[in-house]
Amino acid sequence: MEVLKNRILKDGVVLGDNILKVDSFINHQMDIKLLNQIGKEFKERFKNIEITKILTIEASGIGIACIAAQYFDVPVVFAKKHEGINMDKDNYESEAFSFTKKKNYKIKVSKKYLSAEDKVLIIDDFLANGNASLALIDILNQAKSEIAGVGIVIEKGFQPGRKLVEDKGVKVESLAILESISNGKIIFK
Ligand code: 5GP
Repeated sequence: MEVLKNRILKDGVVLGDNILKVDSFINHQMDIKLLNQIGKEFKERFKNIEITKILTIEASGIGIACIAAQYFDVPVVFAKKHEGINMDKDNYESEAFSFTKKKNYKIKVSKKYLSAEDKVLIIDDFLANGNASLALIDILNQAKSEIAGVGIVIEKGFQPGRKLVEDKGVKVESLAILESISNGKIIFK
């Protein structure tokens, strides 16, 4: 997706050898015009697949998923990392290792919102080692929902996430794939 790649080159900031900061337009301040283009592109990539729900993970996936959902005309469910007193007790649960926080965290989705009738598209901002996507796939398997695919805004192609997700038999569509971000230089595949 050219407009996204150009924006990453213009405003993305490389931290060390493997973190790309896009918080001026995607996951802190959000460029809604760009997110709409991203939502339309996800719809185009999954246009031939029936989808009844979008599943993402808090926090940074939520905004992207909500805007994409308008093009699919389906609800968004997001996996919660933090339990509040108002959270249902009957949940699907999984565990993931956070790439950015370097620790394990639990994710939960109420059993009310995913079922065997659902055909679910997973959406997230980044795909790195695949931990977030694999935990969401685990939750969908527990719910016996059909997995329509994984839609990713930025895939770090030099990390193993895509292979691990595809090994589960799940299609991955990424809108920008990074080949490397070494020495502060962003190179796309
Ligand atoms: P994974 O679970 O695939 O290892 O990593 C995906 C999650 O980690 C995403 O939800 C994203 O929030 C975060 N993440 C991974 N790599 C990056 C990165 O380079 N930059 C940012 N901003 N987040 C990342």
